[in-house]
Amino acid sequence: MKKNKQCSVIRDLLPNYIENLTSEDTNNFIESHIENCEECEQILKDMKGDIKLKKINSKKEINALKKIKNKFRIKSIIFLCIFSLTIVACTFFWNNYSLKVDDNGKLYIKKHTLDKSMINNNQIIMVKSKEKLNNETKDGYIYYTTIITIDDNMKCSGVREKEEGYTDEGIKARYYILEKGESSGIQTNPKMINNYLYYNNNIANGKDKEEAINTILAYREIIEIEEY
Ligand SMILES: [Zn+2]
Repeated sequence: MKKNKQCSVIRDLLPNYIENLTSEDTNNFIESHIENCEECEQILKDMKGDIKLKKINSKKEINALKKIKNKFRIKSIIFLCIFSLTIVACTFFWNNYSLKVDDNGKLYIKKHTLDKSMINNNQIIMVKSKEKLNNETKDGYIYYTTIITIDDNMKCSGVREKEEGYTDEGIKARYYILEKGESSGIQTNPKMINNYLYYNNNIANGKDKEEAINTILAYREIIEIEEY
């Protein structure tokens, strides 16, 4: 083969040679030519250099991509953390506090006085009230905390009362009356714990919400109503 013609064949083969795609015989042919042909040797060197450079470049690109990926991952994690914390904080606030407007029109945060985990799907109304009773009380009043449960049909399904403000003698006398009167079915399940008196007030059972509240609070002075 003439040298020039051989060179052009060799150069056609070089890309495959570099990628190790040529047979052993072809390799021998190429290598023996290159030993005697500086031009082809130079071309081979250049081609190898190009490939190395390409490999380096692609490595750099991969590293850059990895960096971007890592940055994105860190950002995602930070975002998820902040998001979760916000949800937890909102849930905590929702369960324990509410925003209210005072008499002057100013917004303020109010802490719930009722444990929301006690509530099912029913609506709960908590009323704080007082009733004048000169004897047997410390300051002339009995103080009530009343939990009214309104069911899905908007009827009162139960009322639990807590009374306080009695003298030691007064609370015992009141408890005795409740216990004795239990057979009437209106006030049932009385319990005396420390200076508090608890019982079920069944007088409003089955009544509409408004009617129930009015019945229970007929002789009392409302201090505060909260609905949940
Ligand atoms: Zn050559």
